[in-house]
Amino acid sequence: MKELVVISGKGGTGKTSIVASFAALAKNKVLADCDVDAADLHLVLEPDIEYTEDFSGGKQAKIITEKCNRCGRCYEVCRFEAVKRTPDQNEAENVDYRIDPVSCEGCGVCVRACSVNAIAFEPAINGQWFRSQTRCGPMVHARLGIAEENSGKLVSLVRNEARKIAEEQGLEMVIIDGSPGIGCPVIASITGADMVLVVTEPTQSGQHDLQRVVELTRHFGIKTMVCINKWDLNAKMAGKIEDQVRQEGVAMAGNVRYDNAFTQSQINKLSVVEYTDNGVADDIRKLWENVFQALNS
Ligand code: SF4
Ligand code: SF4
Repeated sequence: MKELVVISGKGGTGKTSIVASFAALAKNKVLADCDVDAADLHLVLEPDIEYTEDFSGGKQAKIITEKCNRCGRCYEVCRFEAVKRTPDQNEAENVDYRIDPVSCEGCGVCVRACSVNAIAFEPAINGQWFRSQTRCGPMVHARLGIAEENSGKLVSLVRNEARKIAEEQGLEMVIIDGSPGIGCPVIASITGADMVLVVTEPTQSGQHDLQRVVELTRHFGIKTMVCINKWDLNAKMAGKIEDQVRQEGVAMAGNVRYDNAFTQSQINKLSVVEYTDNGVADDIRKLWENVFQALNS
């Protein structure tokens, strides 16, 4: 079983549209949407959810009012200012303490500081993950709660569940829609993968972010290929990026021309290759052939 991760140095490069087209073109695969902070593959693939489970990425503190003697120790030790005091004055009487769940980082310092065990420390529900069926095959995806973090853990969970499905059903491939950037969620989505396809665009920021992503994949020793999406919007910059990619010893997987079909297919809840048969669909088919060949070589 092979794992392909499609990532981009920045958002808005068309990464998810390309993954949706790969989903339509690839056979015997499971899909994993690891872009959990801004998941949108489901908008195109319209999954039928078969299984849902809560995700807990950490713990959260909560004061048990009946046990609290209002000593204020938790207020003093919390460096995230998550313990709130009411009134917020130096009044000894009628003071009350509570923990703001949005600000609490789950470090547990207040729990240890409280001498009367008046702080509960329970797993926090940070989101949900799903096992689904789509017209392009099984898919694992997730939804992180608003302002929730720990997305690296959720990415690992989604990836592991997709691998399990591939093993159970004897599927040959896991195609992963990774997060943009180079942070923890991206690292969680690429470590140990067989291959990474980086989707970039012909702009200065696209070139800069590509450089950072390629350094990251090199650090983890993962086979990497690059695709320049909308290359013809700035052919000169696209040429510069190709040169840079080759100098880095990385292979080009192919370029995709600009076409309004990217937008129209999304509006129609289809991948580009399902929506049209024109030149842009040819570009993506060639791109997939090159990626598939490299993945299996
Ligand atoms: S440390 Fe414990 S007892 Fe003191 S104010 Fe906080 S919760 Fe209440
Ligand atoms: S668990 Fe950490 S962040 Fe949360 S209230 Fe306690 S000290 Fe503050």
